Amino acid sequence: MELITLKSPREQEAMRRAGRITAQARALAGSMVRPGMSTKEIDDAVRRFIRGKGAEPSFLGYGGFPASTCISVNEVVIHGIPSRKTVLREGDIVSVDVGAFIDGFHGDCAATYPCGAISEEARRLIDVTRQSFWEGFQFAKAGQRVSDISHAVQQYVEKHGYSVVRDFVGHGVGAKMHEAPEVPNFGPAGHGARLQPGMAIAVEPMVCAGDWHVKVLRDGWTTVSEDGSLTAHYENTILITEDGPEITTVTEDGAYE
Ligand code: MG
Repeated sequence: MELITLKSPREQEAMRRAGRITAQARALAGSMVRPGMSTKEIDDAVRRFIRGKGAEPSFLGYGGFPASTCISVNEVVIHGIPSRKTVLREGDIVSVDVGAFIDGFHGDCAATYPCGAISEEARRLIDVTRQSFWEGFQFAKAGQRVSDISHAVQQYVEKHGYSVVRDFVGHGVGAKMHEAPEVPNFGPAGHGARLQPGMAIAVEPMVCAGDWHVKVLRDGWTTVSEDGSLTAHYENTILITEDGPEITTVTEDGAYE
């Protein structure tokens, strides 16, 4: 089994630098979500932004992924490939996932943004998904078990009539974008690794308005809800410290999306 890495104080500083650039990139992408914008234009801007900060886009080339962001519209849950042909329309909900690598460490975060005016149901899905992250966040503390987070996310999402994706999960993050442990968004509390200061994890609820089953399209990446229902995603990178959980993917002015 892959060991969970503990980040030294110097490494934690590098994670904060990576996290800040990643959060700024997310905010930039979110600010570009509007009718008529193609997802490729957003991806181009994010890539230029990250490189302008002296960092590298974590996703570009990862497992062959062809872009710097994953932009996933409506029933696309995750891993949507930015394209000139994907032009945003009023009422869409647009999930942007982005990572940046600098000084040897990664940040990883995501959020779902409304494109113009959206339905009440779509707004509620975005809000429940975002809040489910914070429900899990409360358990991202030294001494808790990983699945305490998972359970809190699932309980909150299901209480609101939605479902959590099972096939993809959160993860440790550090010198590699995906490290141990896996951080599922479902399951009973009290299982998995015990959290310790120096660990860093990406908690990322992926929520479907309908059933939780998803499928990957023929491009090998684009992951959609099987029933075609709307989906949302929210993610931050969290450092476990002596003083509690600290989000690294936060902008200078304290914004988480
Ligand atoms: Mg992630």
